[in-house]
Amino acid sequence: MSRLLFQGVPGVADISESLRAQSTVHGSRFTIREADTLHEECGVVAIYGHPHAAREAYLSLYALQHRGQESAGIATADGHRLANIKGMGLVSEIFTDDVLAKLPGRMAIGHTRYSTTGDSALLNAQPIRVDSTKGLIAIAHNGNLVNLGNVRSRLERDGAYFQTTSDSEIIVQLIAHSGAGSLVDAIADSLSQVEGAFSIVMMTRDRIFAARDPHGFRPLSMGRMKNPGGSDTVVFASESCAFDLLRAEFVRDILPGELVMVSEDGVTSRQYASGIPQSSCIFEQVYFARPDSRIFGRWVQESRDQMGRQLARESGVRADVVVPVPDSGVTAALGYAEEAGIPFRFGLIRNHYVGRTFIEPEQRVRDFGVRLKLNPVHNLLAGKRVILIDDSIIRGTTSRKIVRMVRGAGATEVHLRISCPPTISPCFYGVDTPRKHELIAANHSIEEIRHYIEADSLAYLSLDGLLQSVRDEYHVGYCTACYTGAYPTQWVDVEDILPAAAAL
Ligand code: SF4
Repeated sequence: MSRLLFQGVPGVADISESLRAQSTVHGSRFTIREADTLHEECGVVAIYGHPHAAREAYLSLYALQHRGQESAGIATADGHRLANIKGMGLVSEIFTDDVLAKLPGRMAIGHTRYSTTGDSALLNAQPIRVDSTKGLIAIAHNGNLVNLGNVRSRLERDGAYFQTTSDSEIIVQLIAHSGAGSLVDAIADSLSQVEGAFSIVMMTRDRIFAARDPHGFRPLSMGRMKNPGGSDTVVFASESCAFDLLRAEFVRDILPGELVMVSEDGVTSRQYASGIPQSSCIFEQVYFARPDSRIFGRWVQESRDQMGRQLARESGVRADVVVPVPDSGVTAALGYAEEAGIPFRFGLIRNHYVGRTFIEPEQRVRDFGVRLKLNPVHNLLAGKRVILIDDSIIRGTTSRKIVRMVRGAGATEVHLRISCPPTISPCFYGVDTPRKHELIAANHSIEEIRHYIEADSLAYLSLDGLLQSVRDEYHVGYCTACYTGAYPTQWVDVEDILPAAAAL
């Protein structure tokens, strides 16, 4: 049974309620949560001034599903009430026509979640709706706050009662406890007290707010939809690919440290923080964001193409075909192939219908993981020298399985090329990375990794090469901490950055 949480929905009590039965399954049901890949953080959207705001939020979340598949939620406001429905699962599983019909109003915010802090439970799904001293507020947040403990205990001492273990609620509690005179001042005051990564959308009964942290770790863009004969609809989304589905025009990125408010008076903006060097997450360009999105002032497709080209210049090798590890390695592989003058082939096919759960009568799911998702095209690989392009090696176990798979399909040589530098340090800014002692590149040389994954050769894109691939006229500053260990904030978890002594 799928459970949804209703808050403030007309005609429905504020309860968690089983709505519909999923198809009955026989045999055991296992969750596939791959241990050897980095996981997306979250996606946020906001809609202001649309008669079907909930449906527009649903479509935007649908386009952002790659940023989180564990839970999703939409809150709407009609000037008087603020309704919120959230559930576990994919956006399309939660929001049927019947459910969307329970969300009235011309304003909406939405969220799709992969948990990085707080339990992965319905209560921590977002948007979070809090009845505060400043009125009803709903919030949806992408990122991770890093001075969490201190702020939370201070608020609890001041009488705050937390409904969830999610870090996003801290911001609402700070707003509720702020001494600032107006709501917008209280929000600015609260945002300036938290450290870490946050791209946030918030909604009251009659206003929408959107903000990015002063470092600008996570993306957040503003768009606009023309309404013939009426006011424009203003939209916000983690990635611009969400605007395409709405036929909205991209307007601009929200700036690091900027707070934007949309109300019946129009769009207003203020810098609540300034003078902090920008540190946008470079791994968004490498892996997380969709290639059809424009983030940090740049098309992701263009960045990945350049990464592939640079990789070919830095570590070319004689070969017959360039093969991407789909889907994320595809754009870099195209750039590599074109630069190297070697044919590009889809030599590995991904099964797009492998969901988050897999029904299998025996406990063999983990062993099957890679083979379930990827299958080699034997006639393209047999007898060939293959360059495989992927975007990261985390623990090395998945890479080894893929190299074995390609060799098993008859490849005579397998050369692995990675479109970013070795991942040597965990992320504290909203990306779910293993601790340092589990990261293979933090504890072993490139030659040791090559030996472990059984490739004929292994090369990574250099840090300079990566930075060059994303360089443009906007001079965006990037966080590269997972490749360098140099963190842009002072807070790190010391346990997470201890190296391993274990040998391969
Ligand atoms: S540490 Fe890595 S994943 Fe985390 S924000 Fe920085 S670049 Fe992105």
